[in-house]
Amino acid sequence: MSTQLNGGSPRYNPLESMNRRFDAAVEVLGLDKQFANVLRVPDKVVMANIPVTMDDGTIQVFEGYRVVHSDHLGPSKGGIRYSMDVNLDEVKALAAWMTWKCAIVNIPYGGAKGGIKCNPRAMSKGELERLTRAYTVSMKEVFGPESDIPAPDMGTGPQEMAWIVDEYSKIKGQNSWAVVTGKPIVLGGSLGRVEATGRGVMVSTRSALAKMGIKPTEATCVVQGFGNVGSKAAKLIEQMGVKIIAISDISGGYYSDEGIDVNAAIEYVANSDTHTLEGFKGVEKVSNTELLELECTVLVPAAMEDQITPENAHKIRAKLIVEGANGPTTAEADSILDEKGILVVPDILANAGGVTVSYFEWVQNRLGYYWTEERVNRRADRAMKLAFDNIYAASEKYNINMRLAAYVVALDKVSTTLKLRGSF
Ligand code: GLU
Repeated sequence: MSTQLNGGSPRYNPLESMNRRFDAAVEVLGLDKQFANVLRVPDKVVMANIPVTMDDGTIQVFEGYRVVHSDHLGPSKGGIRYSMDVNLDEVKALAAWMTWKCAIVNIPYGGAKGGIKCNPRAMSKGELERLTRAYTVSMKEVFGPESDIPAPDMGTGPQEMAWIVDEYSKIKGQNSWAVVTGKPIVLGGSLGRVEATGRGVMVSTRSALAKMGIKPTEATCVVQGFGNVGSKAAKLIEQMGVKIIAISDISGGYYSDEGIDVNAAIEYVANSDTHTLEGFKGVEKVSNTELLELECTVLVPAAMEDQITPENAHKIRAKLIVEGANGPTTAEADSILDEKGILVVPDILANAGGVTVSYFEWVQNRLGYYWTEERVNRRADRAMKLAFDNIYAASEKYNINMRLAAYVVALDKVSTTLKLRGSF
């Protein structure tokens, strides 16, 4: 069986998935459609063709995007993705999801997203640096600590953020730490930021299991994706007492009914030449398709979009899905999961721990006063728990699933702000 992920497949479009849920939330709230349309479309779309001299002397032109979905609640916020699957519709969907995410965890930001169509695994450090700096120059009118604040996403991390801060600071003629979050600690990063998204996934899992009356020690978990989000989520969920029975990355899925030692897997990836799980011992190899369909208590899709679709949703045997990735479930699959009685903690809630700690990083940069990791974690956990309880309560109040409830809560907040500002 193929280990291919479905993401980037022309069969599914994350923007359509976003719009369908958005339209459903407009109905629930009874919002005027013309008014709601202001929030259905992004405020601003910037596209840049970025020439970079490669190590072999050739010149390659890369497609770069920054989409600002909204800035009604504050500066727009969202990561930058480096992937061959990057396209405008995907970036638009990811930008809108950032708006809803920030509203749900109650932080004073709008939403944005950036992306460059490239394969970072096939590029040298020097090529990545030149690309990142050139992208920053292209977006210099968009980025800013008070206007639009990027962060890492798939294919980017603290090093790319360090280059952005450096390039932007040069343009402005002064150090500008707060222009980007997810920076290395020595360059104004926040303790706890690297683990924050995975940690929020753990808090969401813990909250959902409690609502379901399932003890963590009686639960099993399957995690799809072993990047920053998946690996940290797996580690923290394991620490809760849950047995992690399967993990996966681009090299395939790895299963053990005895439970996987997550720390050993993390160490294995860090020391392997390919930086993947390929060759990880003491486990059974399964395909990506099989992995998603394993019997388990919790399934954490933490890889990419469009993994749970009408094609496989009816075969999912998890009781709970906690979405670490953005958009792992297509809109058509939602009702199939509902019919099966599977509780889904949606992406815009479950993975909001990352942007929450990004906000803390921005606050610390502006104060010039840095918090302990304990303080960061305590405040982030509290924000995530509060957001979970709020969305759960909304799902009961309106008698809708948690995904729609999350859109309703977010849209209610952003549309109220928009009405109050009344700028059109
Ligand atoms: N890329 C992350 C996300 O999708 C983090 C964004 C941020 O911290 O601004 O939520």
